[in-house]
Amino acid sequence: MKIIDDRISLAGSDLDKTGLLLADKGIDSRYARRLLYWIYRRGIGAFPDINDIPRTVLEALDRYFVTGLTSPVASQVSSDGSVKYLFSTPEGLLHETVWLPDGRRKTVCISVQSGCRMGCRFCATGQNGWRGNLTAGAIVNQVVKLPHDFTHIVLMGMGEPGDNIDEVIRACNVLTAEWGLAAGRSKVTVSTVGVTPSLRRLLDETECNITLSLHSPFPDERRRVIPAEARWPFAESLEMLTGYDNKRKRRFTVAYVMINGVNDSDRHLGELIRLFSGTGIRINLLPFHPLTEDGDRSSDEKTMMKFKHQLVSSGIGASVRRSRGLDIDAACGMLAGGRS
Ligand code: SF4
Repeated sequence: MKIIDDRISLAGSDLDKTGLLLADKGIDSRYARRLLYWIYRRGIGAFPDINDIPRTVLEALDRYFVTGLTSPVASQVSSDGSVKYLFSTPEGLLHETVWLPDGRRKTVCISVQSGCRMGCRFCATGQNGWRGNLTAGAIVNQVVKLPHDFTHIVLMGMGEPGDNIDEVIRACNVLTAEWGLAAGRSKVTVSTVGVTPSLRRLLDETECNITLSLHSPFPDERRRVIPAEARWPFAESLEMLTGYDNKRKRRFTVAYVMINGVNDSDRHLGELIRLFSGTGIRINLLPFHPLTEDGDRSSDEKTMMKFKHQLVSSGIGASVRRSRGLDIDAACGMLAGGRS
């Protein structure tokens, strides 16, 4: 629970907890649902903006609580229409959010930490270190205060969800609950390198889709790109997903950032086919966005299309994702906002 100028921040609270907080201050807990509607669906800045709760109750709310919602502090617009927003928490933790319009699909990509401590080789966030975890309130705030409509929410911005799992699970529940943002559960995707105890909890305690970052089907190679492989082997994550009783048809996907000469050979392709045939797991092939002039380069389009065609002809769902927001450093792996 966050305290701001001695008042309790409500963003991130669920229905039960809000009811208890209100009751603790002598306010009728039956106002909790109405209050959360105004916070999560209407994104109000202050309680006097509410027009269907009695004034005496609003005054009491104002004495003890704040909404905890904050607007972005900066934004940048890409030539392709994507927009990157910079948010700050009351403690000054900077984090970025990207809005990606693509035809009828409008995706908001949100952060779960300020920075990240996983140190993945292809990712600017990881290269710039970790500054702190975001609360569930700060995570959902990026959706509530987004000045656009959206169709999909991906927890794929700054940070590793598995490294902040309590707050991520709370946020996922606010995003999908009917008393919260009521985004359909199939519209919310959590992307993780596969911190296995946290993955177990995502499967058991949320209904969101899950994307696992792979980047090499060979453990020793993957470890060089994603150091977390040493502690949480991908094989364990894969076993969890394939062993999951997927009655509700949650979507499981693997993200494969393609790096020229690193993970785009026929040997890699063959191993991908061997690992994923018959699993029902889709593979998203992503272009690599170089962090330096003289470092790794992305695989070319021809190689990416070859991977896609071979995977699809082996019965594995696969797609090639386009780069978006490159000119404002908003593409996958490029978020490093607020680095000092
Ligand atoms: S890819 Fe994700 S987990 Fe890896 S360093 Fe970047 S933000 Fe962290």
